[in-house]
Amino acid sequence: MKLVLLGAPGAGKGTIAKLLSASGGAVQISTGDILRGAVEAGSALGKRAQAFMSRGELAPDELVMDIMESRLREPDCAGGFLLDGFPRTIPQARALQELFGKLGIALDLAVNIEAPREVILDRLSTRRTCENPDCQEIYNIKSKPPAVEGVCDKCGGAVVQREDETPDAIAHRLRTYAQKTAPLIDFYRQRGLLLTTRSTNADAIIAAITTHLAERGTE
Ligand code: AMP
Repeated sequence: MKLVLLGAPGAGKGTIAKLLSASGGAVQISTGDILRGAVEAGSALGKRAQAFMSRGELAPDELVMDIMESRLREPDCAGGFLLDGFPRTIPQARALQELFGKLGIALDLAVNIEAPREVILDRLSTRRTCENPDCQEIYNIKSKPPAVEGVCDKCGGAVVQREDETPDAIAHRLRTYAQKTAPLIDFYRQRGLLLTTRSTNADAIIAAITTHLAERGTE
């Protein structure tokens, strides 16, 4: 399964990617997780990305493309991948098509996950994340709190509110999505690769994706 997951921040891309990767051989690749890991580690990449991320702006295309080119060349991608939060601009989508050509990869589908704005705002303001860069488990203070407040169930790391999940940064990220990322919906539609889902229920979204892939003869 080789998928691109499109959708606004908080639409459910990460949740769907985790569920799909748990049930098959495809790996979840989240550029947000990779960049947050680099920021935590204090690497040169993290230092470049940090200012953009804390303001809710996109990191530069060439920086993200460098990361993705090396990531997609890793052997675990041979069993499939779920691109979560990438591509996010038309130049990234074009560069990704070129990279796929170079690596001999054919994308199965781009899934556009749509959710109502009020659901997105509620999810983002109540979302909490494990700050351990190797874990980054997602919690929600209403629907999925950690067993011990502020402590990750999986790794014992600190569970915190992301710097870019303050009301100002959330508003900025949603504007950035509308301006820069939403045009990718047409990009993939024009290539016959788009599936749009309009559910807030993860099981229903997974079912729509697997049915669609089965109908197209892709596992
Ligand atoms: P996310 O966890 O996907 O919401 O990403 C968090 C932040 O990382 C975004 O607001 C951007 O600053 C940066 N980021 C993640 N993916 C990309 C991308 N494909 N292109 C540019 N910036 C990105």
